[in-house]
Amino acid sequence: MVLRKIFKKPAGDSHKISKRDHKIKADQTSKAARDIVLRLQEKGFEAYMVGGCIRDILSGIKPKDFDVATSAKPEQVVRLFPRARIIGRRFKIVHVRQGRELIEVTTFRAHHTQGKGAQGQQSDTGILVRDNVYGSLEDDAIRRDFTCNSFYYDPSSETLFDMCGGFADLRDGILRTIGDPYERFREDPVRMLRAVRFEAKLGLQLDQDSCDALEVNRHMMAEVSPARLFDEVIKVLMTDSADIAFGKLIDTGLFDQLFPGTADALDADPGLIRLIELAMENTVDRIKMDKGVAPFFLYAALLWPATKLSFDEFCANGMSPSEAMETAARKTLDRQSVRITIPKRFSVPIAEVWKLQTVLPRISPKRASKTAEHTRFRAGYDFLLLREETGENTDNLGQWWTDYQKANPVVRQEMAHTRNKGRPRRRKRTNNNNSPSN
Ligand code: ATP
Ligand code: MG
Repeated sequence: MVLRKIFKKPAGDSHKISKRDHKIKADQTSKAARDIVLRLQEKGFEAYMVGGCIRDILSGIKPKDFDVATSAKPEQVVRLFPRARIIGRRFKIVHVRQGRELIEVTTFRAHHTQGKGAQGQQSDTGILVRDNVYGSLEDDAIRRDFTCNSFYYDPSSETLFDMCGGFADLRDGILRTIGDPYERFREDPVRMLRAVRFEAKLGLQLDQDSCDALEVNRHMMAEVSPARLFDEVIKVLMTDSADIAFGKLIDTGLFDQLFPGTADALDADPGLIRLIELAMENTVDRIKMDKGVAPFFLYAALLWPATKLSFDEFCANGMSPSEAMETAARKTLDRQSVRITIPKRFSVPIAEVWKLQTVLPRISPKRASKTAEHTRFRAGYDFLLLREETGENTDNLGQWWTDYQKANPVVRQEMAHTRNKGRPRRRKRTNNNNSPSN
């Protein structure tokens, strides 16, 4: 078993890091997670805070959530806590509510080939499809993805168990796959996306072997269930390092695997990448200012290059802008759904934001006030500003809408009256009453 090689010495004292070195303070950890660990230990089980939360504390980042790993089986965990329930199909995990926190408690798992039963399964391509074989702490440690995600912290003894050498890797700024990176990326290609995420978030550099493995295996992204990828992409890009992560997705070629339609459009018109880059920079700014970022807005930007090119083409073929945009949106979203399932509650607003790009120029007193009340107006307006920032000529439409929003009702009427006066009207097609007025 290749993964076994990671343990140069048998598990035990060699993995222990004392408080003097790890410097983790109790108040950096979650009270709920501490209470859960202590309760499990009281009942004779092994239990630790595990994974990303410890990695984040060691990297000087406040963890967004805490996970617990234990030798107790899900059914045993559930019995110990009144507000606990088993969830998950792919992995059985227990959600324990403690105060206002939600802690994920997982039972130590083994890599499926180590287990006795047939609980773990691999598809023809080597992808792990089920992974519910229980194991020891050591088994659990080596089935995790990266060395820096394989920390186990015991709050009772304040000992850190660094099972795969993550402590030294973090210190050296290295993100390293546990075991053979070719095998680990094949088993679960989402790990390649996670690699990009952790590199960007933690300022780490993926080790050379893993970089090579990523290049060889990036096409495996196409094997991942499209339903899983929507959230994974959001996790990579809805962060305060979205710009860096996006650059890495492009450089590694993972972006082309995830967004083939956008990739083709960027080949045809490389300048279209600017809008996505600006959307990423805005994301970073907004997150740093504690402002919300909407996933649909991010996807609207990520898919815009394909929509824009189709829209231009359909317009050139004589469609009205609104019809062209609707057709282009459908085409882009249909093609994208092969790789990433975009749930309806997101695909609808994405199409609305695009559609607004054809509505915003159609200004009359009645229309302007109606447009300003559209549920998606703010997002559509922000999107228009992004397009302008890329240098697209919109006849100062963004500024017009900025002024309109600030103006009082009387001035608004006047503005809407005069905006399109004297501008050439688009020729109406006889069979289409929907043509825009500019
Ligand atoms: P985040 O800061 O986004 O929560 P995380 O590392 O905690 O990062 P989670 O998705 O919460 O990520 O996963 C918790 C832990 O489970 C990880 O630290 C890692 O040890 C393990 N893990 C998660 N996904 C995988 C995977 N695809 N393959 C192997 N191990 C994984
Ligand atoms: Mg986590």
